[in-house]
Amino acid sequence: MKRFAKVVVGLPVEGPFDYSIPDELVDFAAIGKRVWVPFKTRELVGYIVGLSDKTVLKQTRPIHSIIDEEPILDKELLELTKWISQYYFCSWGEAIQAVIPGGLKKGKSNIKQRKPSAIGQFKPTRDLKPTVQQDRALRAICNDLNTNTHHVYLLHGITGSGKTEVYLQAIGSALAQGRSSIVLVPEISLTPQAVERFKSRFQEEVAILHSRLTAGERFTEWKKIKEQKARIVVGARSAIFAPLKNIGLIVVDEEHENTYKQQDIPRYHARDVAIYRAKLSKAVVILGSATPSLESYYKAEKNIYKLARLTERIKEKDLPKVEIIDMKNEYNLKKFSIFSKILEENVRDILERGLQAILFLNRRGFSTYMHCKKCGFVLKCKNCSTTLTYHFCDKKLICHWCNYKIAPPHMCPECKSAHINYFGMGTEKVESEMHRLFLDTKIERMDTDTTRKRGSHEKILKDFQKGKIQLLIGTQMIAKGLDYPKVALVGVVSADTALHIPDFRSDERTFSLLTQVAGRAGRGHVQGKVIVQTYTPKHYCIAAASRHDYAEFYKKEILQRKSLKLPPFTHIICITVKGRNHDKTSKEASNFASLLRSVVAKAKSINKKIHITGPAPAIIPRLKMHYRWNVFIRAKDVKDARFYLKQTLKQCPRYSGVRLTIDVDPT
Ligand code: ADP
Ligand code: ZN
Ligand code: ZN
Repeated sequence: MKRFAKVVVGLPVEGPFDYSIPDELVDFAAIGKRVWVPFKTRELVGYIVGLSDKTVLKQTRPIHSIIDEEPILDKELLELTKWISQYYFCSWGEAIQAVIPGGLKKGKSNIKQRKPSAIGQFKPTRDLKPTVQQDRALRAICNDLNTNTHHVYLLHGITGSGKTEVYLQAIGSALAQGRSSIVLVPEISLTPQAVERFKSRFQEEVAILHSRLTAGERFTEWKKIKEQKARIVVGARSAIFAPLKNIGLIVVDEEHENTYKQQDIPRYHARDVAIYRAKLSKAVVILGSATPSLESYYKAEKNIYKLARLTERIKEKDLPKVEIIDMKNEYNLKKFSIFSKILEENVRDILERGLQAILFLNRRGFSTYMHCKKCGFVLKCKNCSTTLTYHFCDKKLICHWCNYKIAPPHMCPECKSAHINYFGMGTEKVESEMHRLFLDTKIERMDTDTTRKRGSHEKILKDFQKGKIQLLIGTQMIAKGLDYPKVALVGVVSADTALHIPDFRSDERTFSLLTQVAGRAGRGHVQGKVIVQTYTPKHYCIAAASRHDYAEFYKKEILQRKSLKLPPFTHIICITVKGRNHDKTSKEASNFASLLRSVVAKAKSINKKIHITGPAPAIIPRLKMHYRWNVFIRAKDVKDARFYLKQTLKQCPRYSGVRLTIDVDPT
């Protein structure tokens, strides 16, 4: 008789905890079910992760009740969440809560279901005859599917080279064997267009999971998947936890995207979780990208992943020609417009020919800061150490981090002079300048400000597709997945926005963003053109992106990473200490760092290959009224770092009001 249950709860506490099972519940207790348990002075939802006929405890408290008739978690998801808790430093219960629909973690036994609104009526499509390169990739993948072999494929293919068709046919093969599939896409590429391709091929077999679903809609999709009524799941990050059985294939599209990393507990990376889940079910993984992450490409080079290449666009023209404009020259010509002469002329030409153009700037708002020319004072957020952005629509200065808003002052708060002015530019300014230049043109802007309302995102894209919009201006939201045949011009208003952020991934991000944006042009019959404005035209990632040359970029970047002992040569663990009190926070950070150093120094282990840096102020040293300090660990193996970190955490004295968070493989 299993009289004891091992239970975990969704709090940052280790476990599992032993509870006794009352006689009347013994027959109903099962691994993977939710229970109500007493915990300290409260009653909490717990998850049964084990059953046993004995316990080492002298006294146990009884389970109060069992919530589920059937387990909500199977063995595989339990194993996966256990791994997540160990790798990403959270409790098993916290990891489980990331896996189940929101309502279930509150202990509800039933959630009112709502069918998500249908995205359209779909015309069925059939497999296309694969090209030679597609065929080569598909043969290898299908061979692994047939033999239940786990392999990770890196599908490195330029935009428009037919990666999606490879995913579709691989999913088809898995389905023919009765195996299910997950397709992860970055949230921003979950456009109706992308969804349509999967729905058209597999109809009712497809369930869609994205963050805009309500709790009821999400639960409906979750149940449909659990009851095996849908065996293909297309979704954003958390879709990796879909309760599918017998998974054959997991696709991670745009695998380099940092939206795959969850920024809250559990701070998992969906790509890495995908690989672990696939390993558990002997499934094949396809990581697809035109600009693979350095981590993945490095593994492919080392034959840990299998590399499959698609080097040619299928039905379209060649990759668009990219022209780089050195804005320093424009400045010398005393032309203070935010658009170079060439960009302006090209937009005019495109509009006159009845074609469409996209203008990209990865910064929203009107002006990015307000500054006094007399004393140099810059208006900053009172809660964060960031500058305030002027938003023309609201006529307010807004903090992009905490949403603090003030009306712009008429004189400098510091020296009282009137020489206070707006500098820098965002998408709002691009929009207003374009309106000024092209009076009768239908212009629309797409960024977080214009897409707050449900459905607004879809509406803008629909209007653009129908030609109701001629010029679309936007942030990275428009960089991905759009495939409109009449877009003949893409203008990058400033390629430099992300380049100078003090983060070792800023070059990689700039390169991939530029490549992605460039790929939006010339998808149809017209030859596309891309114009990139920059103050640093010689920078290798801008130069390489303009030649669509991933190999050149990779060769330079990987050398830098190696010499600086950065990923993929190490793993980074970022410890952030934050609190409202400046002194307590910095003290705890420095105590923690010195203790960690001494723990590592004392350790007998022969493997001390870990590097500790900090404490140093975070990139934004004060955020939402909290001071923030970082300590970084670089380690060959996360396991070693975990060992030292656990010891340090046990010994480190903690101040009240100061919090410490751990992020493994931060992005
Ligand atoms: P990617 O995902 O790499 O951007 P897609 O899969 O969207 O590329 O393919 C680009 C275009 O080429 C799509 O319109 C697609 O339908 C078409 N296509 C893909 N594979 C084939 C094929 N084997 N034969 C004909 N057309 C194809
Ligand atoms: Zn001043
Ligand atoms: Zn703020």
